[in-house]
Amino acid sequence: MATIIFQPTEACNASCAYCYVVHKESRVTKTASVETLELLFVRINEFLADRPNDRMGLVWHGGEPLILGPAYFEAAIDFQGKHCPKTSARIRHAIQSNLTLLTGDLVRILKKLGVTTVGSSCDPFTDLRGLGRPADAAEYHRRYLDGLELLKREGMGCGIIYVVTKPALGKALEIFHHLTGLNVSGPIDFNPVMIHDGGPGHLGITAEEFTTFLGAIFPVWWRDRSRYPDVGPFTPLVRNLLGEDRKLSCRDSGRCADLYLNLGPDGRLSHCNRSCESGLLDYGTIREKTLAQALADPGRNVLRERSRILFEGECRGCRFWSLCHGGCPVEAWHETGSFLHKSSMCAARKDLIERYVEPAIHEGGRDSSP
Ligand code: SF4
Ligand code: SF4
Repeated sequence: MATIIFQPTEACNASCAYCYVVHKESRVTKTASVETLELLFVRINEFLADRPNDRMGLVWHGGEPLILGPAYFEAAIDFQGKHCPKTSARIRHAIQSNLTLLTGDLVRILKKLGVTTVGSSCDPFTDLRGLGRPADAAEYHRRYLDGLELLKREGMGCGIIYVVTKPALGKALEIFHHLTGLNVSGPIDFNPVMIHDGGPGHLGITAEEFTTFLGAIFPVWWRDRSRYPDVGPFTPLVRNLLGEDRKLSCRDSGRCADLYLNLGPDGRLSHCNRSCESGLLDYGTIREKTLAQALADPGRNVLRERSRILFEGECRGCRFWSLCHGGCPVEAWHETGSFLHKSSMCAARKDLIERYVEPAIHEGGRDSSP
């Protein structure tokens, strides 16, 4: 299933220290026009109508998408009804939000779109995520918890992405216990912060630091994994190593070349939100290109080639190839100036598996699944 990451707006009510929007040179906030929103559903319909067995994911991303308010989402529902009468059942909506603007009205609309679980981000430990400017971290977290409670009351699920930064190092278990104590039904994912040019370099972490952070959590999660939610990257790694599941995140799957497409607020198509943030892999605009054309853009060839080049080169003979595929190409580009290298998270990946995951699996046997 191809997935469109839709950034309807760069506007946000928060100013998280590592967010690319906050550090952009141009301070003009862009929001997708109603024409672009309508064209998106025209494009989705033509794509799905030509592929009767396919589905399409549509992830509302940002900025903060809920800042657009109920009317914008109602318009999306209307456009989907108008342009996708025979294909709408095959559109899978999802959303990534900071939850701080969630209202009962918006929950009702998200349900209408078919959203069942909301992806969220929170960090009550570092003061790096906050509302307004200067960032108010306490207010962010208070309103985040209100949003989370609302989701629970309404029977909606929630997942959490935690971005690991320098100030979070040394607090791994405290953070893990806090996040799992929120009792979310969706997964909790730990991702290393990605700092772009001009971003706050002092927040960046090394591969080794990321492994140390994860290594502090893994034994605790592993010991009681039946009572914890899925935790990334542990759960997919364990399931893959036990041969129970082949699902991997986009950065590990080696399949991102063909599966993702980002639509920015200005109507520009890029590979994914990360490539868009970095001004890379531009596939034209949604006005001039169909989704099929953008998904077949020759600019993607370098990503397809990357797998072959790494498999025969830098990653040759690596026993973790099927779990990693060299990592995220955009990360590699930031680190080396080329997509055709592995990401520096290689060391973290190997270390995590060899020092923590494999010994636990071998000692624990296969009696209890993650
Ligand atoms: S470029 Fe990186 S972040 Fe974007 S889809 Fe591929 S692996 Fe994921
Ligand atoms: S762990 Fe390193 S060498 Fe192995 S596949 Fe990943 S990036 Fe390549």
